[in-house]
Amino acid sequence: MMIPFNKPYLTGKEAHYLYQAVLSGKISGDGIFTKKCHSWFEERYGFQKSLLTTSCTDALEMAAILVNIEPGDEVIAPSYTFVSTVNAFVLRGAKIVFVDCLPDHPNMDVSQIEALITKKTKVILPVHYAGIACDMGPIMDLAAKYGLFVIEDAAQAIDSYFNSQPLGRIGHLGGFSFHETKNIISGEGGMLAVNEPGMIERAEIIREKGTNRSQFFRGQVDKYSWVDIGSSFLPSDIIAAFLFAQLEHLDDIQAKRKAIWDLYHEKLGALAQYGVQLPYIPAYATNNAHMFYLVCNSLDERTALIQLLKDNGILSVFHYLSLHKSQFYADKHDGRALPETDRYADCLVRLPLFYELETADVLKISDLILGFYQNRFSA
Ligand SMILES: *Cc1c(COP(=O)(O)O)cnc(C)c1O
Repeated sequence: MMIPFNKPYLTGKEAHYLYQAVLSGKISGDGIFTKKCHSWFEERYGFQKSLLTTSCTDALEMAAILVNIEPGDEVIAPSYTFVSTVNAFVLRGAKIVFVDCLPDHPNMDVSQIEALITKKTKVILPVHYAGIACDMGPIMDLAAKYGLFVIEDAAQAIDSYFNSQPLGRIGHLGGFSFHETKNIISGEGGMLAVNEPGMIERAEIIREKGTNRSQFFRGQVDKYSWVDIGSSFLPSDIIAAFLFAQLEHLDDIQAKRKAIWDLYHEKLGALAQYGVQLPYIPAYATNNAHMFYLVCNSLDERTALIQLLKDNGILSVFHYLSLHKSQFYADKHDGRALPETDRYADCLVRLPLFYELETADVLKISDLILGFYQNRFSA
């Protein structure tokens, strides 16, 4: 039997809560389970406002509207990320100014940001790759100095921290994903964390198609009407019901993932002698065990490793392709080389990591990888 790269984990309560949501008689957005999820996130992480969305992509699109991105505005973001991180801003006419990765981590190299800031810069957009915090201190300092917004792409970063502050709560806005490949899932799903009290009311309006329906339901206005631009960013309460079953088990899910991650790390630490780059966790960051990756020495080496694992029934996968070289953006990029981004695009490989992955499987995968490098370097 193949060991998949990912297997969505069900806590056992999902179907029960779906049934309750359906029986409640209100299965459109902002029903009882949406409210339970919002309270859970606000209590646990201290977001000023938590708003469920249908995806992290949508949360980022809301963020781009909230900070009034206009054609020509510049957004500083990594190139080694998912398309949605920057597409949300390109949709509103922004120009993306890409930053390279750190040599020891796929996160953005914060020391390169200041030189990229111009009069048109409006947003710094850190992505917490593998759930490991970007260096938020200097990012927030630069934002204060130049009057910029910070929007965190925390899609992979649930329950992870920067110097004891939850990711997604540090910038003005933070986007999370509950796609089935993330730690906590609802199939498709996401959340916008609003950390600026002054942005909350408008965020609710944008999420409700540009209407003040949320205020109407709270009895604050006696009719609801069209007051701004927006779209249908809120999920059905059925999605929230599924998500709530996951949230109740978050600590258990995290403990299990961390145990698997730690075992990989213990077994594969020896790969450093072959020049393989292992995950690095800076002192300011916690590890939410979203991902266990290795960075090979070359594209050929990575291709051979993925093939060897596949021949042994194990699915490992590479990750992002450089966005600054993509078919869509290459001719819009300013031409700067981003060598670390290209290196991660060519050399990074992700290993299976999911709740039900057995210890024996982790040991088998680790032994195969160790054997691969022993052979390669003894030849
Ligand atoms: C998964 C992911 C997204 C997109 O999340 P969706 O919920 O699928 O829209 C965005 N950014 C990053 C970094 C991701 O990992």
